[in-house]
Formats: sequence, structure tokens, C-alpha cells
Amino acid sequence: MPKNPDSLPGFTETLVAWFAQHGRCYPWRETQDPWAILVSEVMLQQTTIPTVLGRYNEWMRRFPNPEALAVAGEQEALRSWEGLGYYRRVRALQATARAVTEQYSGIFPQDEAALRALPGVGEYTAAAVLSFAFNEPAVLIDANVARVLARLYNDPTPIDTAAGKKLLRRRAEILLSRSNPRAYNSALMELGQTYCTSHSSLCESCPVRTFCRAKDPASLPVKKQERTVSSLEHWDIWCLSDRGLLLDLQPPTVRHAGMYRLPQRPREEAEALPHLRDQHYSVTRYKVTRHLHRALLPSLPRASEQFIPLARLDFLPLASPDRQLVRTMLSLQESAAIVSDSAPQRRSKTSPRVSQNS
Ligand code: SF4
Repeated sequence: MPKNPDSLPGFTETLVAWFAQHGRCYPWRETQDPWAILVSEVMLQQTTIPTVLGRYNEWMRRFPNPEALAVAGEQEALRSWEGLGYYRRVRALQATARAVTEQYSGIFPQDEAALRALPGVGEYTAAAVLSFAFNEPAVLIDANVARVLARLYNDPTPIDTAAGKKLLRRRAEILLSRSNPRAYNSALMELGQTYCTSHSSLCESCPVRTFCRAKDPASLPVKKQERTVSSLEHWDIWCLSDRGLLLDLQPPTVRHAGMYRLPQRPREEAEALPHLRDQHYSVTRYKVTRHLHRALLPSLPRASEQFIPLARLDFLPLASPDRQLVRTMLSLQESAAIVSDSAPQRRSKTSPRVSQNS
């Protein structure tokens, strides 16, 4: 039988041996608990490893098993997820926790079809649980793996086309270790995070350089659709009274459903108010600029808006940019109040730190 041109004899063993010696230790690599694996996979979607490392252990202490998250309130789950972004992920995770608790008495099924029937568990996540928790030979293709495979085979087929995806899967299946898929999948991802990254390729010291056919690694992988970045602006109000800070509870149909945000106003309405500061941040493919204006009392809150006492803010879920801005504003006001307190000619020592509607 003719040799398959895509087979790379010795590649898999070499990669696994390299990983056994040099693989990084992450808490989710030191467990075979499917719940812990699922949590890490969901956190790592669209979030960097350093950010997840800062949150994973705390989350696992709070929700050590599906039952713990299943019985938690939605606001508690959202508050615990703050800073990780993409909040629909934690809602899906909670739905999964409830399904596993109710349908499987808290024990994860070791079966692809059953895993994929769980809410929010797609092809990739099911494969990750099968591979990392149960050491099943499941193919995993994330952005790192796709990049490594495109370079390894020196293939310019766009990886975001049907033909490109088919080729990736075929080659991933050929290379997959049947004896230790858990280590192999981790190793391939780690190669893409360390030697064969989107910014550079350290080919001279790469552990699999003798198998690699790449001629110009920087030109690979090819993508048909490059992501475009758009600008987005919105105008928010800062309205602080002796009843608390005016916040807007987001309705179920929007991105931050169930979370609180600073209230938005139409541009003309906001720009008629004193400007406080601008905030810049990026979300998915948007570069966002938020213009914050001070609203003067009396201001008629909308139905979804309410004054939240400052003491309750830490216990409620706020979108991350809002949490950051609220903290900045309150600390600025506190500093200003301290300065004012030390100037008795301007404010008496009994004045509140955060003045009404300041
Ligand atoms: S040799 Fe270079 S291009 Fe090939 S896998 Fe290693 S780092 Fe990537």
C-alpha cells in the first residue's frame, strides 16, 4: 500500500516526549475531573491563560462540582465570572451544571453524543472533555493547532474554508496519538503557544523542526476572511446621590443580560451635561469609547434603572469596564473629598466623603 503523504512517522512520539519534559503545569492539567476540565475550557475560550490562571482556582473553590453551580443564583454566577468577559459562557456553564446534576446525578457522561447534548457544549468542548478527562482519542483543533498544522504541512489552503477545515481534520486524525491523546493534544497546543506562535516561529529550536515542511512560516496560516475592527462610541451618565449610584439592570435579550451597567443616554442628551472622562477598551472586534457625563438631580431614572447603595456594589454583577470605571470614579471622588475635608474653609469635617450627586 502506498505511504500516506500526510503521515509524519515519529512526529507524535517526539512531540509527546518533548511535552513530558517541558510541558507547563496548569491546574487543569493536574486533574482528570471532567467538571474541572470543562470549567477551564469554557474560561479559556476567548480569554488568555494568565487571566484564567488568576481566576480558575478561586472559581473551583467556590463551585467545586456541578451541584454547587447548579444551586447558585444567576447573579452569584455572573459576579464570580466578572473580569472573564463573554458572560453567555457562564450562563451556559450553569445550564450544563444543572443538566449534569439533574440528568446524570452529577457524573459526566463519557460519550460524545451525550456531552454534545448538554447546553453550550459544542464539538470542540466535548472533544476536550473526552481527551483531557477520559484520555479518549478525540481530535482537538483550536487556533494554535490550526496554525501549527498549516505550517507543518506548508499548506496555503485557507483554514477558515470548508476545504481547509477538512484538510486540518484529516491531518489531525493521522497525527493523533491513540496511546496518550491527553498528553498529545496538550503538547500540540503548547507548541502553538510557545515555539509556533502567531507572532513568531522559533524554528531553530523547535522540538519538531525535523518533521516540518514550512518554507515561510510567517505567511501561514492563510485565512480567507481577515477580521475587521470597528469603532463604537456610547454616552453614559454618572449620577450619584445619597441613595447610591444610578445603574441600569440589563434585560435578558442583550449581551450583558442580568448585569448592571452605567446608564446610557443619547449623545445630544449626554453632551448637554458636564463631561467627566472618557474610557477606552476593546470587546471582540470593537474598539469602544465611552464618554461619561455627570447627570444632575433631579434625573428621572428609566424603568430598568435604580439607585444602588455603594455598600452593595461589590455583591452585584457589573460588566468589567463598568466595574473599572465605577472604582476609578469613586476613588477620585474620595480623594477629592479628603482634600476638601482638609480644607475647612471649603467643607466642614462632617461632610460626607461622597457628596450628593457629585
Ligand atoms: S519548525 Fe517552525 S514552523 Fe515548523 S512547527 Fe516548529 S516553529 Fe512551527
